Amino acid sequence: MPHSHHSESDIALRVRAIESLLAEKGIIDPATLDAIIDAYEHRIGPHNGARIVAKAWVSYDYKQRLLADGTSAIAELGLTGFSSEHMVVVENTPQVHNLVVCTLCSCYPWAILGLPPTWYKSFAYRSRAVIEPRKVLQEFGLDIPDEVEIRVWDSNADLRYLVLPERPSGTEDMSEEALADLVTRNAMIGTAKVYPPRSPSTITA
Ligand code: FE
Repeated sequence: MPHSHHSESDIALRVRAIESLLAEKGIIDPATLDAIIDAYEHRIGPHNGARIVAKAWVSYDYKQRLLADGTSAIAELGLTGFSSEHMVVVENTPQVHNLVVCTLCSCYPWAILGLPPTWYKSFAYRSRAVIEPRKVLQEFGLDIPDEVEIRVWDSNADLRYLVLPERPSGTEDMSEEALADLVTRNAMIGTAKVYPPRSPSTITA
């Protein structure tokens, strides 16, 4: 297996050299490139997905629109492009737990979840999520009772999935913004649940 031993500054230097060469030849526009880098650094990421989930938790109407047509409901929040054009949102309930995978490669809704985690792209996850999802979830620390059905959704280049996790109990008084802070990337892939915030008054020995 080939290994690269370049230091980060070496790589940065090479990238910059390639960038100036491409710009010089008119293949890329540096302003466009800056916009793309800014998008990946600041605008895309799981905080977008968390906004969608929190909104669906507080607004029944939004949730219905989200489940009926994920792409349009997500676009309502100004979130589109970056591999999130065709979105299907699947809802976790006490009876059903949803898990998202891309068995073929690593299709993932970048705009709303950011860059995929390494394990999502691993061969082990891609193959085992379909064959033994309950066991895979156990390894993520998630014990799904036998009576709960696990549905595995295989993403592809044209269609990507977002899990709408269950709203944790004890969060009835929380604002949409505070709720969004509870929602993790893994909860929106289906490898975690969303848990209520820890409150000192609820800690018991
Ligand atoms: Fe893929």
